[in-house]
Amino acid sequence: MHDKTIAQLSAGLAAGKFSSAELVRALLERIERFNGTLNAFITVTADQALAQAQAADQRRAAGQGGPLTGIPIAHKDIFCTLGVKTSCGSRMLDNFIAPYNATVVEKFDAAGVVMLGKTNLDEFAMGSSTETSYYGPVRNPWDLDAVPGGSSGGSAAAVAACLAPGATGTDTGGSIRQPAALCGITGLKPTYGRVSRWGMIAYASSLDQGGAMARSAEDVALLLQIMAGFDPRDSTSAEQPVPDYGASLNDDIRDLTIGLPKEYFGEGLDADVARAIEDAIAEYRKLGATVKDISLPNAPLAIPAYYVIAPAECSSNLARFDGVRYGYRCAEPQDLLDLYTRSRGEGFGSEVKRRIMIGAYALSAGYYDAYYLKAQQIRRLISEDFRKAFTEVDVIMGPSSPTVAFNLGEKVDDPVTMYLSDIYTIAVNLAGLPGMSVPVGFAKGRPVGLQIIGDYFAEARLLNVAHRYQQASDWHTRVPAGF
Ligand code: GLN
Repeated sequence: MHDKTIAQLSAGLAAGKFSSAELVRALLERIERFNGTLNAFITVTADQALAQAQAADQRRAAGQGGPLTGIPIAHKDIFCTLGVKTSCGSRMLDNFIAPYNATVVEKFDAAGVVMLGKTNLDEFAMGSSTETSYYGPVRNPWDLDAVPGGSSGGSAAAVAACLAPGATGTDTGGSIRQPAALCGITGLKPTYGRVSRWGMIAYASSLDQGGAMARSAEDVALLLQIMAGFDPRDSTSAEQPVPDYGASLNDDIRDLTIGLPKEYFGEGLDADVARAIEDAIAEYRKLGATVKDISLPNAPLAIPAYYVIAPAECSSNLARFDGVRYGYRCAEPQDLLDLYTRSRGEGFGSEVKRRIMIGAYALSAGYYDAYYLKAQQIRRLISEDFRKAFTEVDVIMGPSSPTVAFNLGEKVDDPVTMYLSDIYTIAVNLAGLPGMSVPVGFAKGRPVGLQIIGDYFAEARLLNVAHRYQQASDWHTRVPAGF
C-alpha cells in the first residue's frame, strides 16, 4: 500500500479495497520503523491521525467527502497546526503549540485529508540541506550519507521513502524544488500568491510560497487543487480563479515550445547531471515539443540579490521572537536587554543569526540604498528577463540543482558553497513565478531533477508538461532500496 500514489490510494479508498484507518496504520508503522534512521519527522501525530482516518472513513461510508478524503499526508513543520507543536526546526519554537491552523492545514482538514505529522526542515527554512535544524539532520533515503536537500528535506525524504504519499513544503529560494530533486520526487512551487501564507511562519515574506511534494505530477495536482485559492487573511494572496488541475494533465504537448536558458547549462553544472537533463529534453522532443535556446542574462545576479533581500526580510520577520510573547526564554534574565539578547542568542542557531545580522546591516541607514535598493532593482531586471522569455517560449527547462545530493557535513561549514545549491531556483522566487522539479534519472547513484518554470499562474500547464513526461518514463515510480 505504501508505495502507491495518491491517485491510486484515492481509487482504492473509493472502491473500498482498504480503509483510511488501515492505510494510516500502515504508514504510521513505517514511520515508526524508519524515522529513527531518516529523522524526517519532528512530530508524529499518531492518535490524531487515526481519529481523522476514522472520521474520513465515516464520511466516505456516508457518500460524502472528496477524492482526498482519508488520504494521509505530512506537513512541513512551518505550517501552524492547532494544538500541535510547530517548531520551524528551531529551539526558539521548541515549546510552541500553535493556537490555530494555517489556511493550508485548514483546507486539507476540510477536505478530509489526514495529517501524519510534522516534517523536519532547516531552521526557519534557511538552508539547502536540512542540516541547520535544531532537531538534527535528515538523511536522504537514496543514500544515507547524503543530505535530502532543504529546507523541505523532511517532507522530501518522507515522500521518497514512502512514509507519506504526499507532503506540504515551502519554497523561498528553492526549498521545494531542490529537495524534490535530491530525493527523486515531484515538487511544485506555485506562483507567488497562489497558496495562502496565513499561518505559514514567515522567513522572507515577498518570496515565501507554500506548495506540494509527491511522487507524481498527477498527485501534486490533487494536492494543489486543495491548497490553492484566495485567502482574505493573506494580503498578498491572489484573487485568481483556481482551474481544475487534473483536467488538463493529459493535454497534448506537441505545440509546446521549451526554452533552454544558456545560463542554466554553463560552468558549475555537474556533467552527469547535465547528461540526465539533456536526456529528459530529448524525451520532450520525442513527445513533439520544440526546443529553443534562450538567455536570462541577469540570472547570475539572482544569488547575490536574494542574499540581501531574504536576510533583510528575515531580520524583520524574526524580530518577533524576543522571549516575551512566545518561544524560548532564557533562564533568570537580569533585565530586559539581557532577556532579549540571551533568549535570541540561545534560541536561534548560527545560520539564522548570520542572516539576521546581514539583513539588519543591509537595511541600516546609509547602507539601505547601496544594498537593499540595489537588490530590488536587480530583482526587477530578473523578472524582466523572464517576461521577455515567455513571449518566445511556453516553459523554461533546466536543472533544479547543479549537483546531485551532497554528503552530510560536506558544505555545512561553507555558507557560500551551500548558497550556490539554489543557483537555478532562486531567480524564480525573485520573479514570483511557478516552478517544478521532476525526477529524470540518476547521476552517481543519486536522483536528478529537471526544473520546469512557467509563466504566472501557469501551474496547470507545468503539471501537464510534467505529467506527459511521467507517462513516458518511470523515474518517478522508483523507490529507494531498503524502503
Ligand atoms: N536555500 C535557500 C536559503 O537558504 C532557500 C531556502 C528556502 O527556499 N526556504 O535561503
